[in-house]
Amino acid sequence: MQASENSNDDFLFIDDSDEDEILAQSGNDTWQVLIVDDDPEIHSVTQLALSDLVVLGRHLEYIHAYSGSEACQLIEENAEIVLVLLDVVMETDDAGLNVVKHIRETLNRQDIRIVLRTGQPGYAPEESVIKEYDINDYKTKTELTRRKLVTTVFAAIRSYQQIATVNENRQGLEKIVAGATELSSKHSISAFCHSVLMQLNTIISNDSSSVLCARGQGIIDNVDDLSFYILAQSGHDNSLVNQKLEQLKNEQANKFVKTCFLQQQHQIEDQHLSLYIAKGDYRAVIFVELASPLSEIQTQLLNVFLSGVAVGYENVHLFQKLSNAAYKDWLTNLPNRLEFLRLLDDFSQQNGEQLVAALIDINHFSDINDALGQDIGNQLLTAVGKRMLEIGSICKFARVGADVFGIIGPESVVTPENLMGLFLHPFTAGEQHLPINACFGFCTKEHAENSGVKVLNQINIALNLAKKNRLEHFAYYNPEMEDQMQWRLGMIRQLRNDFAANCLELWYQPQLSLETGKVIGAEALLRWRTADGNYISPAVFIPLAEYSGLIIDIGDWVINQACEQIKRLDSSFNNISISVNVSIPQFRRDDFVDTVIGSIKSHQIDPSKLELEITESILMDDPQLVVDALMKLKSEGISIALDDFGTGYSSLSYLQKLPLDRLKVDRAFVTNIAEEGQSVIAETIINLGKKMDLKVIAEGIEEIKQQERLLELGCDEVQGFYYAKPMPEKDFIEFLKANH
Ligand code: C2E
Ligand code: MG
Ligand code: MG
Repeated sequence: MQASENSNDDFLFIDDSDEDEILAQSGNDTWQVLIVDDDPEIHSVTQLALSDLVVLGRHLEYIHAYSGSEACQLIEENAEIVLVLLDVVMETDDAGLNVVKHIRETLNRQDIRIVLRTGQPGYAPEESVIKEYDINDYKTKTELTRRKLVTTVFAAIRSYQQIATVNENRQGLEKIVAGATELSSKHSISAFCHSVLMQLNTIISNDSSSVLCARGQGIIDNVDDLSFYILAQSGHDNSLVNQKLEQLKNEQANKFVKTCFLQQQHQIEDQHLSLYIAKGDYRAVIFVELASPLSEIQTQLLNVFLSGVAVGYENVHLFQKLSNAAYKDWLTNLPNRLEFLRLLDDFSQQNGEQLVAALIDINHFSDINDALGQDIGNQLLTAVGKRMLEIGSICKFARVGADVFGIIGPESVVTPENLMGLFLHPFTAGEQHLPINACFGFCTKEHAENSGVKVLNQINIALNLAKKNRLEHFAYYNPEMEDQMQWRLGMIRQLRNDFAANCLELWYQPQLSLETGKVIGAEALLRWRTADGNYISPAVFIPLAEYSGLIIDIGDWVINQACEQIKRLDSSFNNISISVNVSIPQFRRDDFVDTVIGSIKSHQIDPSKLELEITESILMDDPQLVVDALMKLKSEGISIALDDFGTGYSSLSYLQKLPLDRLKVDRAFVTNIAEEGQSVIAETIINLGKKMDLKVIAEGIEEIKQQERLLELGCDEVQGFYYAKPMPEKDFIEFLKANH
């Protein structure tokens, strides 16, 4: 600026103003004003003119630049500058305008206010420049009396503040919008609540600590009381989450949360906030301890934010409800199969812990359901679900299928003994006390594959084996089981095909009277000859047929064959009976009794010539079912034998209830019968049979010595390789002809 331009410098002293209303008491903050002029006098004069000026509660603070380039640098370095009083002509004619460009274009600062000053009207910038660069005011220095200067500065700063407020609002709203998007992506209650506190911190930009609380009941799993629980925290200890608010040990928090719930409205104080969130049935309170009071804008933004939070809070609960419906079992309120798979996923991926996952399958549940009704069935399942929790809160539980429960826990807790212990006492369902038992399949972490679905399959393999194990009702998965499983499935497939292709045969093993040495009947025994001409033992394939259910069709076929055989023998031989082995799945069929009777009727044979052999294990598997069926069969005149007697655990009380004709002494008690002191069991069985008025037949006689001993003991009949092995029908007829 040249000296000539300063001819009217005294204008700054003209006309003292009466702007008292803006000379209010100021706080600590200041407005930073940059004076840019190449004439040092202008600096001091301006400063003098504006001394003591307080704008919107703050004093002004001056920074000085004496050239355009210096101004640019200062503005860059100092983000607090709000107003630039800028000389247009300095080192160059347009030095001031270059500063303007730098501010608006290079630094992209749209908020800084600019007042252009020039000594001469001829240097006035184009109107377009004033518009384009958002210049607050353009004044020739002659125009700037003190009063005008003060007014200009005041207007400029007020405009700065409006812009700042709009910006802050915009940023706050941007945060709310971003926060809302973030919140709506949260589906779990705890993630949502945590996120709310994070967003809240951003919005109020306050070094605060906070807790979000709600009444526990219905909100936190397994919590039934109405005390306040912490759902999320910020600035406290994370172990407080899902604990009672009292655990925070903060009297104020306790007090304010309660009052806020009662008054149902926000309480905004300088040191703390209690924010009330309510929508539908869902209510919560956020308690915030503030480092400094909120500004008005922050309070407004907070209100906007909170209204969104309430909606989200309700949504996340509704979502939780939906997800409960998808992942919880409605009857027992335990996790369902889907959720158990997720738990198993975690189980399979956890490291280092001695964990085991198990399935509990209730035996004969469907019978209880059928016999006592679904209501009782449901009550029983609920009772089992409840009792299961007794294993310990460290475990995770689920209902995986109709009568199958799942459990995951430490190996030392989830043991066969502990699980069996759950079933020692009867369960109460309605008026009923139901003694029930179950089978258990286990898979330890050691063998677990790396996904939930695979682990469930592994436990199932163990469970299926456990179900078939007649002595121990549990099994731990091991990898060989899977090979066995593959083999079994292959065999079952082959058996199904071969049965359909009529490749099964029924052979006959003669049974003789010890007294006369004549054939009195035969046991019908299945033979499976595969395509390669090999025979597969029934001891191998019968369990597979039972497991797959094929035994039902095969069993029907056997009974029909036996009836046909009886019919054919009738014409040539007297009193030859045929024994047929039956399995438990056949008894489980509703129409079993009717099919047997139907077979007898359609072949028009004497029912007493057909004998059904049942084993003790069949009887023990489901005593009532078997006893009922046998009573009906017996009443039709069909004979009943108890096979493999002595190997099982049938209680004598059941033995008495059975309508038996014959006891079969198992081969195990015959093998060493001729040896000194080895005939005690056989003797006991024979005596028992006699007392019960039953015929006794011994199986597995291979030597004459055994026959002699049996004769001494008073046994009636015999069957064994010593007399004849099982043979095809043709050979049997020949044998009969020779021994009848
Ligand atoms: P089981 O009912 O105890 O049949 C007697 C088994 O002992 C038969 O074996 C027979 O061959 C064998 N045996 C007979 N005498 C002697 C002997 O002196 N020494 C020796 N070492 N063994 C002897 P098999 O035919 O292999 O049948 C095994 C089991 O398969 C049968 O035991 C029975 O439980 C089952 N089974 C066979 N056929 C059928 C059937 O049609 N239906 C059902 N459900 N099970 C069947
Ligand atoms: Mg038998
Ligand atoms: Mg037997």
